[in-house]
Amino acid sequence: MCDFDAMVIGAGAVGLSVGAELAEKGYSVAVVEQHDRIGAETSSHNSEVVHSGIHYPTGSLKALLCVEGAQLLEEAAGRYGIPFCRTGKITVASTVEETAVLEHLARQGRSNGVTGVEMLTAAQVSRMEPDIRAAAGLFTPTTALTSAHRLMEVLAGRLSDAGGLLGLRHRVAAVEPRDKTLAVTVAGCPAQRFVCRCLVNCAGLSSDAISTMAGIPCRLHWAKGDYFSLHRKIGVSRLIYPIPGKTGIGIHLTPKMGGGFRVGPDVEYVSRRQPPYSTSAGQASYAPDGGKRRLFWQAARRYLPSLAEEELVPEMYGIRPKLQGPDDGFADFAIRSEPHVAEGRFINCLGIESPGLTACLAIGRYVARIAEEVLG
Ligand SMILES: Cc1cc2nc3c(=O)[nH]c(=O)nc-3n(C[C@H](O)[C@H](O)[C@H](O)COP(=O)(O)OP(=O)(O)OC[C@H]3O[C@@H](n4cnc5c(N)ncnc54)[C@H](O)[C@@H]3O)c2cc1C
Repeated sequence: MCDFDAMVIGAGAVGLSVGAELAEKGYSVAVVEQHDRIGAETSSHNSEVVHSGIHYPTGSLKALLCVEGAQLLEEAAGRYGIPFCRTGKITVASTVEETAVLEHLARQGRSNGVTGVEMLTAAQVSRMEPDIRAAAGLFTPTTALTSAHRLMEVLAGRLSDAGGLLGLRHRVAAVEPRDKTLAVTVAGCPAQRFVCRCLVNCAGLSSDAISTMAGIPCRLHWAKGDYFSLHRKIGVSRLIYPIPGKTGIGIHLTPKMGGGFRVGPDVEYVSRRQPPYSTSAGQASYAPDGGKRRLFWQAARRYLPSLAEEELVPEMYGIRPKLQGPDDGFADFAIRSEPHVAEGRFINCLGIESPGLTACLAIGRYVARIAEEVLG
C-alpha cells in the first residue's frame, strides 16, 4: 500500500513547483520540509533576479529551463499578482578587450531564444545609465526582478488547492528504495514512515545527502555569496552586471524593489561545517562577511566610479549548491530519474543553483513529465 503517488523532499521554490505541478495532474502528493516554514533556505537568500538566459551554453538545461521559466514566471506574475518588474539589464565591459565576451554572450543569448539582446556603445550606456562607466555594454531587456517569497506562497497555494499536502517540520532521515516504491522515514519521536510510488529530491544544499540515502552517492560544493547594500540615490535604473567569471556571474548592482541597491554576490567555496542558514534562535550558521567590503568596492567601482567604500553595508548571503568545483568548467543542472533506484522512481534534482529561481516553474513541468512516465 502506498501513502502517496509522489513525495517531494524540500519546500523551496523548486520543490513547491514540482509538488504543485504533480498535484494539478491529479496525483496524490506530499511535499515534506524540515523547517517550520517554506523557502527558509536558498530560495529566500538570493538576488531575486529573473534571468534572461544569456549566460548558459545553448542546449543546456540551464539555458532551456531559464528561458522557459522566465516566460512562465511573467505569466504567473500577471495571473497571481506576483511582483514582477522588467528593469532590463546591462552587462558592461570595462575594457575594450572585454567587449569580445559581450559579443559571445549576445550570440549565445540569441541562440538560446532570448529576445531583444542588443550591443551598446560606451555613449549609449552612459545615456541610459548616467552613473555607469563602460567601454561597451550588452542590453537584455527581458531581465526582471521578482519576489521569491510571494512566488513560493503562490506555489504553496496551488499545491494545496489541488489537494496536495505540505508537511512542515518533517525532516527526511532515511530513504529506502524497494522494487517499485520508496519508503521515506521522517525524523521524530516516534519517527514516521511513508511509502510512495515516486520520490523527488528537491533538497537544495542537502540534495547530495538525500541522493546518497537513496543509493546514489554524491557530494555537492557549497559556494557562499555575500551581499552589501547601498542606500545612496544613484542614477541607475537597470541591473548592471560585469563580465561573468568562471564560477559566477560577477559582483553586480541590483536596484531593490523596495528602494536602494544591492551589490553582490561574490563566490566563495566554503567547507560544510554547520547548517547553511540560521533558521531557529541560537542556531550557529554562516553570516555575511563585512571584511569583504574592500573587495566589493573594488569590483563595483569599475562600473560605478562614484562609489565610496564606506557606503557599502554588509547585508546578507546565500549559499549555492554547486556540482561545479572551483577548478571545474560549466556544470549543468542534473535533473533525472535514477534508473537503478526503484526502477527509475527516484528523481534527483542536483546542482540547482542560479538560475534555479527563474527556472523553477519550468523545472516543475520538466520533473512532472519525468514523473508521469514512471507513474503512468
Ligand atoms: C547568492 C545566490 C544568488 C542567487 N540569485 C539568483 C537569482 O537572482 N535568480 C535566480 O534565478 N536564481 C538565483 N539563485 C539560485 C536560486 O536561489 C536557487 O536555484 C533556488 O532557490 C533553489 O531552490 P530549491 O528549492 O532547489 O532549493 P532551496 O530553496 O534550498 O530548498 C531546499 C529545501 O529542502 C529542504 N530540505 C533539505 N534537506 C531536507 C530534509 N532532509 N528533509 C526535509 N527537507 C529538507 C530545505 O530545508 C529547503 O527548504 C541564487 C542563489 C544564491 C545562493
